[in-house]
Amino acid sequence: MPELPEVETIMSLVKRRLTNKKIIKTKVLNAKLRWPIETRKLRNLENETIKSVSRRGKYILLEFEIEKAILIIHLGMTGVISFTNQEEYKRHKHDHLLLFFDSFIFIFNDVRKFGSIHITQDLSEMFLIKNLGIEPLSKKFDGKYLLQLSKNKSCSIKEFIMNQKIVVGIGNIYATEALFLSKIHPSMQAKRLNLSKSKSLVSNIKFILQKAIKLGGTTIKDYVNAEGKPGYFTQELNIYQKKNCPIHKNNAVRNIKISGRSSFFCDICQKK
Ligand SMILES: [Zn+2]
Repeated sequence: MPELPEVETIMSLVKRRLTNKKIIKTKVLNAKLRWPIETRKLRNLENETIKSVSRRGKYILLEFEIEKAILIIHLGMTGVISFTNQEEYKRHKHDHLLLFFDSFIFIFNDVRKFGSIHITQDLSEMFLIKNLGIEPLSKKFDGKYLLQLSKNKSCSIKEFIMNQKIVVGIGNIYATEALFLSKIHPSMQAKRLNLSKSKSLVSNIKFILQKAIKLGGTTIKDYVNAEGKPGYFTQELNIYQKKNCPIHKNNAVRNIKISGRSSFFCDICQKK
């Protein structure tokens, strides 16, 4: 499943291709996604120019020159964005949406159909967007912010930082790695955070996400990014799916389930 760094990478590729480009035609090949594609709303975007491309959480946003029209793309588990020339386009089984531009076609393909395409007028009221927590790479996300929200929270620190209402885009791998670097046990109660741990956790989260973005996104099951090249971040992981702690080389990495997700940690490095 693409996580925030992959979505950021894909977003910047989409941005390069689509900024200031006009959609000539839209074609829904299969409206069935997590929510059905609203074909009529989509048609309103024909002959409209994309003003800007950005990211909010794991959503890619295409903003149009016409007042307040925003196309929201979510890749879900297996959504793939690709581009091709009109002459070279061959329909693949799971192609859902085509956007025709003057010299190329934008294709949204999704094998497992957990992705989505929405068109909205108002992002702040949009049900998928309005409850999202802050961006992890923004200045607002700092040690004080995280500490403030952690008070009285008895859930584990790992569940807390993965809660999209607190901060967006910290998936399982990134949470696991950031907790290791911060020497915090993944099942420590969130309310036991203090300012210095909180600051360290925030700076490690930012560090890991930025590193993953630089490396073009992570790859755990042969994930391929939008340019068709595999990411390289897996080689940089310290604890996720590792056998031994990189610091205590004779100590086996433990793996417990937290909310059903594998949580790797070193019981010498990381304390509750
Ligand atoms: Zn260790």
